[in-house]
Amino acid sequence: MRLIFKNLNVLRSTLNAISTSIEIKEIVESAGVNLPNLFDFSSFGVFWKEDLHLFLYQEESCPPSFSQEVVKNMVKVFSILGEESIEVDRMVVQVEKRKLRPKQMMMDSKATLKSYLTLPLTVEGEILGCISLNSDQPNAFDAQDLQFLSVIGYQMAATLKHFQRFSSIQNIAIYDTLTGLYNRRYFEERLGIDAQKSFYSGTSLSLVMVDIDHFKKINDTFGHTEGDQILHKISSLLKTSVRKKDTVARYGGEEFIIILPEAGLEESFIIAERIRRLVENTSFEAGQAQINLTLSLGISNFPSHRAKSKEELVKMADQALYDAKRGGRNKVCIYAGRSTQ
Ligand code: GH3
Ligand code: MG
Ligand code: MG
Repeated sequence: MRLIFKNLNVLRSTLNAISTSIEIKEIVESAGVNLPNLFDFSSFGVFWKEDLHLFLYQEESCPPSFSQEVVKNMVKVFSILGEESIEVDRMVVQVEKRKLRPKQMMMDSKATLKSYLTLPLTVEGEILGCISLNSDQPNAFDAQDLQFLSVIGYQMAATLKHFQRFSSIQNIAIYDTLTGLYNRRYFEERLGIDAQKSFYSGTSLSLVMVDIDHFKKINDTFGHTEGDQILHKISSLLKTSVRKKDTVARYGGEEFIIILPEAGLEESFIIAERIRRLVENTSFEAGQAQINLTLSLGISNFPSHRAKSKEELVKMADQALYDAKRGGRNKVCIYAGRSTQ
């Protein structure tokens, strides 16, 4: 009786730790820390579909061959549960080695998987992943273990689902649905952070404002849907033309803005020119036709143009874009107003 009471208390604190986690990794971490107080096992694993993550908490002495067996086994069980088959090579496996069992129960380096208890993580009939206890001992788990693990799995699945919903809301809030680029709101926020860093430290920061030339004609000739597809294709070209630390956002209809942190004028010009040429040399499908398009681009830079605020830096890039349009389009212009030189 007393043992069950103790177990219930451990279970309660485990559930509490899981439900108050603020990120997926923390859910697994909480379980990994608490579960050895409830069960005797060699490895504990959680696997969920999003990004194909598999976290494994293992006894320190657990041999690598044991992990491989566990991974294969969990993927197999998950497939049997009715999901599409998953290639083990595509899984991201993160193994945490911890002392999960008393010293005298160290595992033999040739230990193999002898028993396991694997349960689906299910919410409203949807299988989100699975949870598994694994042992190098035969018949390591009993009916009570199954009951306890079910309660933990239930809480884990509910918390995972909550995160999935939250992250899809977050995605809606920062991405533009048509182009997949960051939206204007995110751009403003990002620029706030990047500009503050630059203004404070004096490091370079450039903005490139991009506008498609004569885009109205595309819509008028081929229709809005074809226009949308071209916007999407151009967005992908922009995304692949910049560095990892850069931000590409949809600024308005067919206008985009790129933040280039730590990029001086020369480097920014090279990037903008590369984008201009790439689009100029790409042919786009519009209905049955193959068409060519061009871009106009305007660059502003801190500290070269002595902008005093992020708003001013945006205005300068916009002014440079206007110069590119006035200068004949299919052009990159650098802000020609105030300058330190
Ligand atoms: P230019 O910039 O070279 O001066 O000419 P433009 O024809 O591109 O000029 P303008 O900026 O006036 O027109 C932009 C057009 O972009 C108008 C609008 O029909 C189109 N547009 C804006 N947003 C979208 C969109 O989401 N989808 C599609 N298909 N078209 C859009
Ligand atoms: Mg335009
Ligand atoms: Mg425009």
